[in-house]
Amino acid sequence: MKCLRCHGLMVREAIFTREGGIPVSRCIQCGEIVDKVVILNRCRTDFTLDRVVMRRRIAYRLIA
Ligand SMILES: [Zn+2]
Repeated sequence: MKCLRCHGLMVREAIFTREGGIPVSRCIQCGEIVDKVVILNRCRTDFTLDRVVMRRRIAYRLIA
């Protein structure tokens, strides 16, 4: 998967909190970290339908 900011390589990682691990993707080039909540929140502010569909597909890939 490519980073939406810089098109760099995204790697899957987990951030561990008291409640457990959260699956995230981190860009090895710019350091962007996204999880399903970040992507879904960005969908709410983006009114272009194509981009909403694209980001939801990315979010589902993150949690699958
Ligand atoms: Zn990036």
